[in-house]
Amino acid sequence: MNAPLPVDVLKQHLIDPEICIRCNTCEETCPVDAITHDSANYVVDPDICNGCMACVPPCPTGSIDNWRLVVRAEAYSVQEQLGWEELPGEKSLPAQAAPESTQAESAAPDPAAFAEPPAAAMPAGASVPPWSAAHPYVNLYTHKTPMTATVVGNYRVTGTDTESDIHHIVLDFGELPFPVLEGQSIGILPPGEDAQGRPHHARQYSLASPRDGERAGYNNLSLTVKRVTQDYGGAAAHGVCSNYLCDLAKNDTVRVIGPFGHTFLMPNHPRANLIMICTGTGSAPMRAMTERSRRRIGTGEVGRLMLFFGARTERELPYFGPLMKLPRDFIDINLALSREAGQPKRYVQDLIRERAPAVRELLADRNTCIYVCGLKGMEVGVLDALREVMVQAGEDWSILHDVLRREGRLHFETY
Ligand SMILES: Cc1cc2nc3c(=O)[nH]c(=O)nc-3n(C[C@H](O)[C@H](O)[C@H](O)COP(=O)(O)OP(=O)(O)OC[C@H]3O[C@@H](n4cnc5c(N)ncnc54)[C@H](O)[C@@H]3O)c2cc1C
Ligand code: SF4
Ligand code: SF4
Repeated sequence: MNAPLPVDVLKQHLIDPEICIRCNTCEETCPVDAITHDSANYVVDPDICNGCMACVPPCPTGSIDNWRLVVRAEAYSVQEQLGWEELPGEKSLPAQAAPESTQAESAAPDPAAFAEPPAAAMPAGASVPPWSAAHPYVNLYTHKTPMTATVVGNYRVTGTDTESDIHHIVLDFGELPFPVLEGQSIGILPPGEDAQGRPHHARQYSLASPRDGERAGYNNLSLTVKRVTQDYGGAAAHGVCSNYLCDLAKNDTVRVIGPFGHTFLMPNHPRANLIMICTGTGSAPMRAMTERSRRRIGTGEVGRLMLFFGARTERELPYFGPLMKLPRDFIDINLALSREAGQPKRYVQDLIRERAPAVRELLADRNTCIYVCGLKGMEVGVLDALREVMVQAGEDWSILHDVLRREGRLHFETY
């Protein structure tokens, strides 16, 4: 009797719609454009995905790391996935499609075999945290189980005469646990529905306060939120969540999910140095890390802090006043202003070049971690400036860049 024909099995890559916060990171990362989305779900095209794993480490929620063994001819289509509200369970496979069969092995990409993404897919930053970072909690509260926080403060931190309306918002969690680390973010579920009648999806905001609270010892945290009144192209737009947050009054309640993020974290070991490069609300995680360090000055364990902070004018720099009051021997502040009257235009990458000797000295120290946060697109300019600083001194940037990535010492968060 003839043996049954082997069945072609696929280890299908899926995204958990219940946990995904629609941040777009995976779609930007995928080197072969296998990820797509509509206003409801992010999904993976089974005909394109090659299991390279490049999208897995950057996903802040872990929702992307889901795999199902399916008969290839019955793989879940993009259309099907777009309609999901939750992941389907495991399907049982026909007996001749056992995963150990030769055909299954060749057909199913084994994620473990792709620990390192191919060079073309290598992200600019690290996909691991610094070795000494504390262990983060993620996904404690989800879309299905959000928690309610109370607004205990909301005020503008940019000049009222400027177009840039950025708010410092303090949320209190009362008796409920919400453990966070500097560099993590939370999700906010704005009330109401989108144009299709579905609840608005969550928006992500970086923490602006350190792990022990906006006020040390309190169960609260702060956010730095820019009111979106224009889209990326400059056309008038009304950002759903940012306007909701900026308009909140004291004692209002907000639905929160998270926390998220397991790589953009600060080192915990003594004498670790931080180079922080940011624009606009990208200052939120830098404020959190700076304040964590400031509260620990007395321990004698705080390393060197160097900040490059870009904005159009001083009055558009969130937290400008408090920042300038920090002692100069605690933090080396470099402000890059691109539209200050009577001053030449300067961007963060110009200042990195100007401060080349100090930047090189810090980069030569294995205790230094670099964080970049802010506008989409600043990644390229910052990387070019760092490369130039090293090449000027006869150093090989590509080797250092690789080391920084592998050791979790170079992190980007742009949006
Ligand atoms: C990891 C991460 C951390 C973030 N941290 C912060 C933070 O600390 N502070 C903060 O203010 N935002 C932060 N964001 C951005 C935030 O999540 C929202 O995208 C932003 O507030 C806009 O949401 P919205 O609902 O107001 O606008 P939407 O209603 O989603 O969009 C309205 C229109 O504005 C465009 N748009 C969306 N965002 C922007 C933007 N930033 N600039 C210009 N146009 C935009 C959209 O394309 C759309 O056309 C972060 C995003 C990520 C992924
Ligand atoms: S949460 Fe993860 S799966 Fe969802 S869009 Fe962001 S990166 Fe992609
Ligand atoms: S595993 Fe690779 S190919 Fe598949 S979706 Fe993720 S990044 Fe794209």
